[in-house]
Amino acid sequence: MCAASLVERRKDRIECSASCGFVNYDNPTPVAAVVVEFEGKIVLAHNRSWPGTFNGLITGFVDHAEGAAECAVREVKEELDLDAGPPTLIGVYPFERMNQIIVGYHVQATGVITLNEELDSYILVPPDACLVWPAGTGLALRDWLRGRGVEPEMIKRP
Ligand SMILES: [Zn+2]
Repeated sequence: MCAASLVERRKDRIECSASCGFVNYDNPTPVAAVVVEFEGKIVLAHNRSWPGTFNGLITGFVDHAEGAAECAVREVKEELDLDAGPPTLIGVYPFERMNQIIVGYHVQATGVITLNEELDSYILVPPDACLVWPAGTGLALRDWLRGRGVEPEMIKRP
C-alpha cells in the first residue's frame, strides 16, 4: 500500500514493515464441494490438471455475491451437465494445503452426464464402495457416508 517492504511477524500473517497498517491475513478461499448422487451412485470425477488416476467430488470456487449452495448447483450443471435437486449442507472443513474452506453439499442429480473441459473422466461408485482421503473434500464425503451408516475406508491422497 505504501511501497515499504513486507515482513512476516507471525505465521500466515504478512504485514507492512512501516506504519501504513497493511496486513495480509491470507484468508482461505471458499470452495463448494458436492457429493453428487446419480442413479443411486456417487459421481467422482478426474480433473484434467490432476496427476494420477484418482477421482474427487465436483468442486468450484464460490463466485462474487453467490451463495455456496447456489455454487454447488451451478458447478454440477457446468461440470457434469446434470440438474441438481436442493443441496443439503454436509459440513464446512478447512483445507490448509490449498488454503481453502470446503463447504460440502449433497445433491440428487438427474440428466445425462456430459463432462465439461475441466474434467476428462468420471466413475460411478456405490456409496458403500467409496474410498475417501483424510482431508478437504474427503471429509465431506466421509461425513455424508457416515450419515448413511457407512464407515468409509480412508486412503492417502497420491
Ligand atoms: Zn505500508
